[in-house]
Amino acid sequence: MSTFVSDFMAEVKAKNPAEPEFHQAVQEVVDSLALVLERHPEYRTARILERMVEPERVITFRVPWVDDRGDIHVNRGYRIEMNSAIGPYKGGLRFHPSVTLGILKFLAFEQVFKNSLTTLPMGGGKGGSDFDPKGKSELSIMRFCQAFMAELSRHIGPNTDVPAGDIGVGGREIGYLFGMYKKLRNEFTGVLTGKGLNWGGSLIRPEATGYGAVYFAAEMLGTRSTTLKGKSCLVSGSGNVAQYTVEKILDLGGKAVTLSDSNGYIYDEAGIDREKLAFVMQLKNVRRGRMKEYTDKYKGAVYFPIDPKADANPLWTHKADCAFPSATQNEINGKDAATLVRNGVHCIAEGANMPTTPDGVKVFLDAKVLYGPGKAANAGGVATSGLEMSQNSMRLPWTREEVDQRLHLIMKSIHKTCVEMADRFGTPGNYVNGANIGGFLKVADAMVDQGVV
Ligand code: NDP
Repeated sequence: MSTFVSDFMAEVKAKNPAEPEFHQAVQEVVDSLALVLERHPEYRTARILERMVEPERVITFRVPWVDDRGDIHVNRGYRIEMNSAIGPYKGGLRFHPSVTLGILKFLAFEQVFKNSLTTLPMGGGKGGSDFDPKGKSELSIMRFCQAFMAELSRHIGPNTDVPAGDIGVGGREIGYLFGMYKKLRNEFTGVLTGKGLNWGGSLIRPEATGYGAVYFAAEMLGTRSTTLKGKSCLVSGSGNVAQYTVEKILDLGGKAVTLSDSNGYIYDEAGIDREKLAFVMQLKNVRRGRMKEYTDKYKGAVYFPIDPKADANPLWTHKADCAFPSATQNEINGKDAATLVRNGVHCIAEGANMPTTPDGVKVFLDAKVLYGPGKAANAGGVATSGLEMSQNSMRLPWTREEVDQRLHLIMKSIHKTCVEMADRFGTPGNYVNGANIGGFLKVADAMVDQGVV
C-alpha cells in the first residue's frame, strides 16, 4: 500500500505543480485512506481517489472593476466545482491577496469530505479572488462584488452550486453578491448562504462555525470525562470564526485569553469577557480596525506583533488547556505544536481550515492529545448553510433555538462518526483518520453507484 500512496502522490504533484497546499491536503487524506483501500480494493478498481483529486470543473475568470477614484483594476476570479456526487457544489468564497488556484483546490478538496460528514446532501466546491478588501471603500467593495458576480452568476444556482462566505467575505459581501445575482438572473432564490436575516438568511449561520468548533471540543473532552468549564483557551484570528468561538467558550464556562489578526495578537490573562467580546465585534465588523486597539482600551492585556517569517508563532507559547486555531492555513507548525503540548494544551479544535502543518499534526497524534481536524471541527458552518438551504427551499424560517439544536446534534453526529471510523479501522482516538474515512465512504459509494461520470 505504501507504494500505491507514494506513486499516487507523485502523480498528483506532477499533474498539479506549484500547488503545495493542495498536495498537503491530498497527502493527509490518502495516508488515512490507505487503511480503507487495503480492506476495500473495489475503490481502487473504480479509481475513486484518482477521480476525487480531479475537480469536476475549474472556472477562472477576469474581474475588471473601477474604484471610486475612477481607476481601473483587474483581479482574478475562481470557482472550483470539486465533487457533486452527494449534492450541489457547496463551499465558501475567499477574498484575500494570498488566493491562488492551489489554495482554492485544497479548500475545495477538504470541503468534499467535510460536507459529507455533516450528513446533509452537499457536494464540495470553493472559490474566491486575489482581491484584498482591507482598506477599500464601501463603494469599491460593492463594485468588486458586482463585477465578480457578473461572471460567477453564469455558473451557479440553487440546485447547481451554492457559494457562501470565507476569509474576507462576510455578510456585507454576500449582500452585494446576492443583489447582483438577483438583478442578472431575475430570480430570488437561495443561491448563496450567509444571507441577511430579512432576505433569506438563517438564524445562527454567522455563529455556526465558531459554535460548532466549541461543541466539537466539548464532545472530545467528554471522551475523557471532562468539560470546558474553567479551561483556559488560546484562540487565533479575530474574524467570524474566532469571535463566535470565544462566545461559545464563555457560554460553556471556559476562558479565552488570546485573539489575533495578521499583524499581531493580544493576551488577556483575565479573560475576554462578554463586554470585551462586544468591543472586538464592533472593532472588527463595524470599524474594521486592528486588534492592537484592544490594549488601548483594556490596559490589563498585552499586544505582541507577529512576524509571518518567524519559525514559530508566539501566540501558541502561552500556558492553556485548549487551542482553537481560527485564522488561516498552516498557522501551527511542528515547533508550535510541540510548545502547545509541552505547556499543557490537551484539546485542539480547528476552526480554520488546515491550520496545522503535517509536522504539527504528527506532534499532536504522537502526544495522543485530543486533536479535532478542521474538516470535522469546523463543519458547523457549512452544516448551517445546509440548514439555510432547507429553509429557503421550504420558504419557512426556523427559530434560533431550532437551528442551534440541529447544529449541536450535527456536531455530535460528526464526532460520533469520527470516533467510530477511527475505531473500525484500528486507530482509536485518531480523529484525522476518523474524519477522512467517514467523509470518504459516503462520497465514494455515491460515485460507485452513479457510474463513471
Ligand atoms: P474572517 O475574514 O472573518 O477572519 C479571518 C481572521 O484571520 C482575521 O482575524 C484575519 O486577520 C486572520 N487572517 C487571515 N489571513 C491571515 C494570515 N495569512 N495570517 C494571519 N492571520 C490571518 O474569516 P473567517 O473567520 O470566516 O475564517 C477564518 C478561518 O476559518 C479560515 O481558515 C476559513 O477558511 C475557516 N472557515 C470559515 C468558515 C466560515 O463559516 N466563515 C467555515 C469553515 C472554515 P486580518 O484582519 O489581519 O486579515
